[in-house]
Amino acid sequence: MKSLIVTGAAGGIGSQIAKQASEKNYRVGLMDLDEKKLEDLAKLIPNSFALPTDITDEESVTESINGFGSSIDALVNCAGIVRFGGLLEQDIKDFRDVINVNLLGCFIVSCAVARVMIKHGEGNIVNISSISGGKHPAIHSGAYAAAKAGIVMLTEQMSLEWGKEGIRVNAISPGFINTGMAASHYKNQKEREKREDMVPLGRLGSSEDVAKVVMFLLSEDSSYVHGENILIDGGVMNSVLANIGRD
Ligand code: NAP
Repeated sequence: MKSLIVTGAAGGIGSQIAKQASEKNYRVGLMDLDEKKLEDLAKLIPNSFALPTDITDEESVTESINGFGSSIDALVNCAGIVRFGGLLEQDIKDFRDVINVNLLGCFIVSCAVARVMIKHGEGNIVNISSISGGKHPAIHSGAYAAAKAGIVMLTEQMSLEWGKEGIRVNAISPGFINTGMAASHYKNQKEREKREDMVPLGRLGSSEDVAKVVMFLLSEDSSYVHGENILIDGGVMNSVLANIGRD
């Protein structure tokens, strides 16, 4: 049985990744902040284990990884937060927290896990960025786009440094996904319809849509994909000119 750690496992996307991995016979370490949520989730997902951890804290991460066992085949860095606000109004603490959880946390957990993987000569890491981490920052989203852009570059750097150690590393960039941190936004019907209209596939994405691509990247079917950032956005990043229209 292969083993996988998912950060942000109690969240909308992370819990779906944990579920699909368990169905594919992985032993799953559920890493997140809230112990009670993790223990409840572990009861629902076979072969999963709660690993309460603050990913911004190196000691907390080391303790959880040591407790998980001596071999880790895969890691999905899914933990993330967003603090909205214009750049001029940003609280420095909010800006720092977003960089710390999304970017520094991804770095801390990846390095701790990579050290274990290198001993075994193989591993697979998937980092979760966002469509706003590429060329299209969302307005009034504080440090989020900068942190997610950092994840894409960190992914490329990991792929260069760790590829020859047998570790494959890729990123994914989800678009408008109706779960987790974005779910409350889409409860507003007008906002939901506006976004659906912008997406060439005509619908919002789901946690299942995202988790299926993660499973592909963790599988042998993607054995020569390395250092990539795959958009899971129903085509919305290509739609700027389409949304202008033509009479
Ligand atoms: P979510 O439901 O809020 O899940 C994120 C999880 O990360 C939460 O359980 C959160 O715990 C946890 N977390 C926060 N700080 C942490 C820390 N210091 N240590 C450990 N865990 C921590 O959000 P989601 O929608 O599933 O998003 C998952 C990932 O996809 C994120 O990286 C997000 O940026 C990315 N993404 C989401 C969308 C979308 O539309 N939903 C689109 C693009 C990218 P608390 O709830 O206790 O804070």
